[in-house]
Amino acid sequence: MVFFRNKDDGQEQWKEKYFRLLEDQEKTEKQYKANEDLLCKTIVRFALAVKGLNRQLDPHLNRIRNLLKNGLQSQLLQKELTAFSSALIMLEDDGANHPLDSTLLFEFLGKLYPQWPDQFEDIQQRYQNRQFANNQALYMALLELIDQDKSANSIDLALDFAEIDKKAINLQLMRLLESIDIPTQFAEKSAQLKHRLNENQSLGPIFDDTVALLLTIKKYMEAEQLEMAAFLSKLTEQLTELGIKAIGVNLANESSAKKRNLLDRTVSDQLVDLQTQSANATQLEPLKQLINSRLQTISQQIQAHNQLEQQEREKVDRELRVLSEKLKDMEAESGELRERLDQAQHRATRDPLTGLANRLAFEERIDLEIARYRRTLQAFSLIVWDVDFFKAINDTYGHKSGDKALVAIAKLLSKHCRQSDFVARFGGEEFVMLLPDTDAQAALSVAEKLRAIVGNSGFVANGNRLAITISGGISQFAANDTQETIFDRADKGLYQAKQNGRNRCIVA
Ligand code: GH3
Ligand code: MG
Ligand code: MG
Repeated sequence: MVFFRNKDDGQEQWKEKYFRLLEDQEKTEKQYKANEDLLCKTIVRFALAVKGLNRQLDPHLNRIRNLLKNGLQSQLLQKELTAFSSALIMLEDDGANHPLDSTLLFEFLGKLYPQWPDQFEDIQQRYQNRQFANNQALYMALLELIDQDKSANSIDLALDFAEIDKKAINLQLMRLLESIDIPTQFAEKSAQLKHRLNENQSLGPIFDDTVALLLTIKKYMEAEQLEMAAFLSKLTEQLTELGIKAIGVNLANESSAKKRNLLDRTVSDQLVDLQTQSANATQLEPLKQLINSRLQTISQQIQAHNQLEQQEREKVDRELRVLSEKLKDMEAESGELRERLDQAQHRATRDPLTGLANRLAFEERIDLEIARYRRTLQAFSLIVWDVDFFKAINDTYGHKSGDKALVAIAKLLSKHCRQSDFVARFGGEEFVMLLPDTDAQAALSVAEKLRAIVGNSGFVANGNRLAITISGGISQFAANDTQETIFDRADKGLYQAKQNGRNRCIVA
C-alpha cells in the first residue's frame, strides 16, 4: 500500500521535528499574533513533512502551503482543507483496480493446502469482486489463513508439481514479491528470493521462504500502521485546531465573540470526540474516514458561521441605510422648518408694504440700544417722522398712489442714512429712526438732510409732480429715560414741527 512507504531516516526526522514543533506551539500560543504566525509555519512544515508520503495528497499540501505563505485566509484554507480531506478518503491503491489473474495462484495453494478449499475459494471470490483494497490486503488474508496452522509449513517437497504449471506459479510468486512494498530492511531477502525464482530453483522451498518473509513483513507493517495511526490522530488534532484558529483570526469583530465562543466550543467537542476515537483506532481506513467526516463537519461549521456573519453584516448594513435615509429626511424636514421659522420671523418683524422693519422690530431694537447705552454711555438719538398732509395725497391721488409715496419715502430714508442706523415704519405714514453714537445735534443735521432729500424727491402721481414733505421730532437718550419717555419727547418735537408749519425738524 502506497500510504505506508518504506520507513527511512528522513521520514523519522520530520516526524520527530513535527511533534517537537507541536509542543513548541502549545507553549507559545498565549499571544494571538504570534500564535497565528506560528500556526502558519506549523502547517507549512506539516505540508512539507507529509509531502512525498503520498502522491495524491502532494498537490493539496502544496496549495495549503502556498496559501499559508500569505497568512491565514480562512475561506480559502477551509476550501483547501475540504479538498484535502476528500483526497484522503479517495486514497486507493491503483493495483486494486486491476486484479491479477489469480487462477494459478489459487490452484497452487489448493494443492499445497488441501484442508482449506472453501476458504481459498472464498478469498479468490472476494479478490475477483475487488473486495480487497489492494493486493497487499489479499496477501495478508492468505497469510492469515496459512499462519493458522504452523504444521502446514512442513510442505511436502515431494508434492506433485507436474499437475500445475511451474512457470506460471513462478511468475505469480515474482509478481507477489514485486507488487508489495518491501521495507528496506527486507529488500535484500526479497531480492534473493527473486533471484532464486529467476533461476527456476525448486518451488517448494521458495514458496516456504516467501511465506515466512511476508509474515515477517506483515508484523512489521502492523507496528508501523499503529505508529502511523497515532501520527494521523495528532495531525487531525492539529487540523481541527487550525480550523478554530482560522475562525479566530477571521472574526475580529467583538460583537460576534459570543457566537465565536459557541462555535469554538462545538469544534472543540468535535476535537475531543475525534481524539478519543483516534486514540482507539488501529486501522487506517476507519481513521481516514473519521478524519474526513470530522474535517467536513468543521468545514461546514465554519461555512455556516461565515454565512451567519455575512447575513448579520448585511442586516446591519440595511438597518444603517434605513437609518441614514431617515436622518436625511429629518435633516431636510428640519431645514424646511427652519426656513419657515425664518419666514415667520421675517413676517413678524418686517413691514410688508415698504420692506422696512416694523414697530415690533423697532421696540426690540430700541431695547438693545438702551442696554448698550447702559454699558457704554455712548449717546444715541431717535427721530420720529410723519408725512405732511398725507390724508390729502390719498384723497387727491388715491390710496394706491399714497402707498407708492410711502414706499418711495422708505427707500430714501434707508438709502441716505448710515449702515449702523436703524429705520422702521412705525405705522400709517409715520417712520422712526435710531442713530447710534449720535447726539441730538448730529441727529438734527442728519434729519435736516433727509427732510431736504424727501422734499426734493419729485414724486410723480398720475402724471402730476407732487411736493411731499415730512416733519421730524428728535430726542437724545438721557440717563433716566425709558423707551416711552424718549419716544414721547421726540413725538413732542414732531408736534411742534407740525405746529410751526411742517416740513421741518425740531429737537425736544
Ligand atoms: P398732518 O400733516 O397733520 O400729518 O396731516 P395728515 O393728513 O398726514 O394727517 P393724518 O395723520 O390725520 O392723516 C394720515 C393719513 O394717512 C390717514 C390715513 O388715511 C393715511 N394713511 C395711513 N396709513 C396709510 C397707508 O398705509 N397707506 C395710505 N395710502 N394711506 C395711509
Ligand atoms: Mg400721522
Ligand atoms: Mg401726517
